[in-house]
Amino acid sequence: MRILLVEDEPNMAANITQALGRQDMIVDNTPTIELAREAILAGVHDAVLLDRRLPDGDGLDLLPFIRKHLKGVPVIVLSALRARSEQIAGLEQGADDYLGKPFTTDEMLARLRAVLRRSAVIAPDVIRVGNLSFDTQSRQAAVNDELLPLPRREMLILEALIRRGGRAVTREGLVDAVFNFDDDIASNTLDAHISRLRKRLGELGATVEICTLRGVGHLLGSL
Ligand code: CA
Repeated sequence: MRILLVEDEPNMAANITQALGRQDMIVDNTPTIELAREAILAGVHDAVLLDRRLPDGDGLDLLPFIRKHLKGVPVIVLSALRARSEQIAGLEQGADDYLGKPFTTDEMLARLRAVLRRSAVIAPDVIRVGNLSFDTQSRQAAVNDELLPLPRREMLILEALIRRGGRAVTREGLVDAVFNFDDDIASNTLDAHISRLRKRLGELGATVEICTLRGVGHLLGSL
């Protein structure tokens, strides 16, 4: 799960990024509308958290652009403009939810989970391939219903693969799912994570394999 956080206030951005990181989400923080537009065009995010008072304008002005380029991706406005009329304006312009500042990170996370559930991003609750299952709500994998604890990046790779339902995910697609724009990615980093994930799955007797299709990408299939 990768979140675009459009927020210019550094402390607020750091707190939210930390809270999302604890939920194993990848966060890209852009402090201006202009930088947010560039990030949106990458087409890699599953949800947007959008501040309103930004240095180069009102965050609400981004809503049509988000709708156009990130189809079906939910947007939550986070704003100190918390009057009822402001909230209605935000929802009418296409936000999925509107959270007045200040808010607790627990409330923000609950709202985010709610909009993700309603959007197409989270489809069935549990996806199964062979004896491997992945719960899209708790974002935990299990082999024969026994929990399979995974480091964050490996869980994100597995999540990206299993959500594709047997179709290939390109190498860029996996990088987008696992690293944010600021991460320094050595060319072999992704492969190292994939190889550790393969090993973990093998050790636990998962009846799945991660196939590498040269020039295409990777896919998860059952054995
Ligand atoms: Ca602001």
